[in-house]
Amino acid sequence: SDHRLDYPISPQDMDWSDYFPAYFSKKRKLDDAADSSEEVIEVQTTSDIKLDTKKVEIADIGCGFGGLLISLAPTFPETLILGMEIRMQVTAYVQDRITALRNQCSTKKEGQEVVPGGYQNIGIIRGNAMKFLPNFFEKHQLSKMFFCFPDPHFKARKHKARIISPTLLAEYAYILRPGGIIYTITDVEDLHLWMAKHLDDHPMFERLPEEEQEEDVCVKIMRTDTEEGKKVARNQGSKWVACFRRVEDPV
Ligand code: SAM
Repeated sequence: SDHRLDYPISPQDMDWSDYFPAYFSKKRKLDDAADSSEEVIEVQTTSDIKLDTKKVEIADIGCGFGGLLISLAPTFPETLILGMEIRMQVTAYVQDRITALRNQCSTKKEGQEVVPGGYQNIGIIRGNAMKFLPNFFEKHQLSKMFFCFPDPHFKARKHKARIISPTLLAEYAYILRPGGIIYTITDVEDLHLWMAKHLDDHPMFERLPEEEQEEDVCVKIMRTDTEEGKKVARNQGSKWVACFRRVEDPV
């Protein structure tokens, strides 16, 4: 059911090998010796990539069906990008998509275009982003966080369920590095104003100037490549974008 969610006690306890098998060796717990329950043994896999040297740096929060992840993958082939999605079946669907794309790349036929990164750099995890993000990411780990077409929760009494709020922004500021960027896009003007206001009011974020926003390749991708964004385009709806930089820590 959607009620049981797995999450690590701390980012150091997270085993990323299931999500990025080309980048991480398996952490396996030894459970026999009484004093070694925390001991971890490394199981090496064959790969050209130096294992266990990278960390996730980009997160797509509430990633839905994975369109953004798949477009970002070849754009940032050296960067690990994680989608987090609360719905179990949607998560499983995105996992299947990623596995199929990886397999296509590894069994490449002659004449087929080479995809930088081979989709080994994207992963999907099931999780509630409003509850457990600091369990997955350490301080300053992320360089970009995407909030694409988040659920609008229209009614005032439901506003506390919105994914941008003062409390959650403090968490996002903690896991984002100074200079890191929060990207937001929605087709609901009221939600856009809400997100922009809360980010504007927060001392750890400053809005990206319009010019800089429009030049950012991620903004272009986020406008066109998420499933929700495509639906809005089909219905000729509007899309509101606001991006914010995480400022330096106060001295
Ligand atoms: N970002 C995708 C896009 O643009 O196509 C999906 C947008 S959809 C309207 C919102 C998604 O956020 C849904 O897939 C929903 O399951 C997910 N979601 C809602 N609350 C969440 C939470 N607390 N943690 C993770 N995902 C969440």
